[in-house]
Amino acid sequence: MAQSAIPAQQAEPRPAPMRVPVRDVLPWAVFAVALAAVLIYLVGAEQGATSLFGGTWVHEFTHDGRHLLGFPCH
Ligand SMILES: [Zn+2]
Repeated sequence: MAQSAIPAQQAEPRPAPMRVPVRDVLPWAVFAVALAAVLIYLVGAEQGATSLFGGTWVHEFTHDGRHLLGFPCH
């Protein structure tokens, strides 16, 4: 039988876990996935033939992240 250092009369009731409905989380999850996809594109594929922006400023701005994440660069 388990014994507690706190007598049963003095133990505080444990709070019930808060429920988070999927309906409330889903829009934020979709937004996070879309934002992550844009960031991964900008870091990993924004150069050369797949470039959406003129010049190389996006490539240069994300250059260290590209190497950190292992995308091919140069
Ligand atoms: Zn590089």
